[in-house]
Amino acid sequence: MLSMPTACWLCKMPLALPHHGLCCFCLRRLPMQAECCPRCGLPALHSRRECGRCQLRPPAWQRIVFVTDWQPPLRELVQRLKFLQATALSVMLARLFLLSWLTERRDRHLYRPDLLLCVPLHKKRAWQRGYNQLDDMARCLARWTGCFYEAAGLSRRRKTRIQHRLPASARRRNLRGAFRVETAVAGRHIALLDDVVTTGSTVEEISRVLLAEGAASVQIWCLCRTL
Ligand SMILES: [Zn+2]
Ligand SMILES: [Zn+2]
Repeated sequence: MLSMPTACWLCKMPLALPHHGLCCFCLRRLPMQAECCPRCGLPALHSRRECGRCQLRPPAWQRIVFVTDWQPPLRELVQRLKFLQATALSVMLARLFLLSWLTERRDRHLYRPDLLLCVPLHKKRAWQRGYNQLDDMARCLARWTGCFYEAAGLSRRRKTRIQHRLPASARRRNLRGAFRVETAVAGRHIALLDDVVTTGSTVEEISRVLLAEGAASVQIWCLCRTL
């Protein structure tokens, strides 16, 4: 594990609170989240009620919380997280997410989930990368939000083809049966953590499996939601 940096990850200025990872100036300059639907996270006229798309064809999950859409500087930090085995960066990003989650709790009556699960990497990919960046984030978030984290709560049964090259229907077919729930979820409110939600088909498939196993609800937690 690397030691905590004493400089801001973005502007490199020394930090008064090293464990925060970002200085208050950079924190304030992060792009504001535009009005978006609380369920799908896509741009909407109102941020307090579900958008027209969700009323017609709701996603399987109930709520989504993210820090910003896929844009700098968060985009670069998330990309660095994938290749840099830096616990300090995961902790900083977890803290950024926590701020968004607390704002949602305060402003939009977001409920606290009981159980936190991560979108699983296929074993081979986890091995190639040698590090699961979501795991570090999840440990922090479970501690700070007071929900239980089950590191092995979900497994990936087979490797799936790269999703973003496929059309929507093929994406759904590609993911069918790819995930298995390895823990008791019946009656529990689940938070499902991923770094970036793009088309939403992976978290959609996992939410579907969790609800079929009796989960009470699914809340998606991610750093970026691509628009
Ligand atoms: Zn800074
Ligand atoms: Zn929506």
